[in-house]
Amino acid sequence: MKTEKQKTRKLGIEVKAPAAVCTDRHCPFHGTLGLHGRTFTGKIVTTDYNRTASIMWDRSVYLPKYERYELRRSKVKAHNPDCIGAKVGDMVRIMECRPISKTKSFVVIEKLETKE
Ligand SMILES: [Zn+2]
Repeated sequence: MKTEKQKTRKLGIEVKAPAAVCTDRHCPFHGTLGLHGRTFTGKIVTTDYNRTASIMWDRSVYLPKYERYELRRSKVKAHNPDCIGAKVGDMVRIMECRPISKTKSFVVIEKLETKE
């Protein structure tokens, strides 16, 4: 299958493509960025960077000694393409990609419906 520029690419996973089109080369839909690895769902806590968002989510780790779960948090930075444009408080799905910068190796691939 040929992939052309400025056309929305299929990512190989079930994701709704964004309605907007952008010229970001790190966009998985309109740029040349390839995706692989893990996906996570989390909430955006900061967007005070250029096309970058900070995403946090909770996970629980079982402690065998106490037979209980401990709550731990993960926080990663992810690329936020212009066509998705996620804001603080949005629930998003992120997927691993090649390192885009020193601390950024995830990209926002979908904005999830927020339940009010
Ligand atoms: Zn895009």
